[in-house]
Amino acid sequence: MAERIDGKAFAATLRAKVGEHAAQFAAQAGRPAGLAVVLVGEDPASQVYVRSKHKATVEAGMASFEHRLPADTDEATLLALVAQLNADPAVDGILVQLPLPAGIDEQAVIAAISPDKDVDGFHVINAGRLSVGQPGFVPCTPLGCLMLLKDRLGDLSGLEAVVIGRSNIVGKPMAQLLTDANATVTIAHSRTRDLPAVVRRADIVVAAVGRPEMITGDWIKPGACVIDVGINRVSAPDSDKSRLVGDVEFDSAEKVAGSITPVPGGVGPMTIAVLLRNALVAAYRNQGLDVPAGL
Ligand code: NDP
Repeated sequence: MAERIDGKAFAATLRAKVGEHAAQFAAQAGRPAGLAVVLVGEDPASQVYVRSKHKATVEAGMASFEHRLPADTDEATLLALVAQLNADPAVDGILVQLPLPAGIDEQAVIAAISPDKDVDGFHVINAGRLSVGQPGFVPCTPLGCLMLLKDRLGDLSGLEAVVIGRSNIVGKPMAQLLTDANATVTIAHSRTRDLPAVVRRADIVVAAVGRPEMITGDWIKPGACVIDVGINRVSAPDSDKSRLVGDVEFDSAEKVAGSITPVPGGVGPMTIAVLLRNALVAAYRNQGLDVPAGL
């Protein structure tokens, strides 16, 4: 039976560490580190995310700047707000909650964020920095997954890793991080032939597909470490209520894997914790101070 990887506990430890460093930063810089979050429209899931990010930022002793704009906001107005936040010295990190309403070009908005305040790591400059091994910002979810993997497995050198999904925000940066950690990496996607056979090779499986419980226990190599990024809302049998499931069928995978993240309580909590960490790193860099080792 696999050990459950407690992402919630790991994230709590990381948030506490960020909180300690955030207090030191405020003392050194004479101001708190600041994270601005922009929400356009009223998407219910985005509202929940923005609320939790605000709460977590304040709890870490950082300043949270929330900007809520109506759904009919035009691109020029949003770009003007981003420019204002880029210029604001109290704002170290800027996060524009995605998805944006139709009619706003997401790539144009991401491109407008200063790469030095791009704590989501979505800007092409930061994707490029990750790709060539320069310091920048790495997207929060894959960086959180890497932290869980290193905590569980230690050195990843030579391990076979299969990342299922090739999105810019999860799959591709995940594959890059695993490559940098000396794993042997395969990126699988919707055109991969015989996906179960590919996954069965893996010592590390990272599932970032967005398909409820697609990966079943018989795809998993005995003892593998399974990181389930998927967050899928499905209706619960015999009830009107819905529940969250991952991309991995937990019950069957748990019987075969060596360790596995649950959904919820696995990768999800790490995303916010890493966001706070990235925002604090941005603050140190923007202030011209050394980023503390281990942050
Ligand atoms: P995307 O929809 O952008 O990408 C999904 C990827 O999965 C694509 O590369 C796609 O392949 C691949 N895929 C789709 N169907 C299959 C299939 N049948 N077989 C193999 N590969 C397939 O999703 P994201 O990367 O944004 O998110 C993935 C999941 O992670 C979602 O459930 C999302 O909710 C969750 N998520 C969770 C976060 C967290 O904090 N825990 C943060 C971000 C995302 P192709 O490229 O060929 O189309």
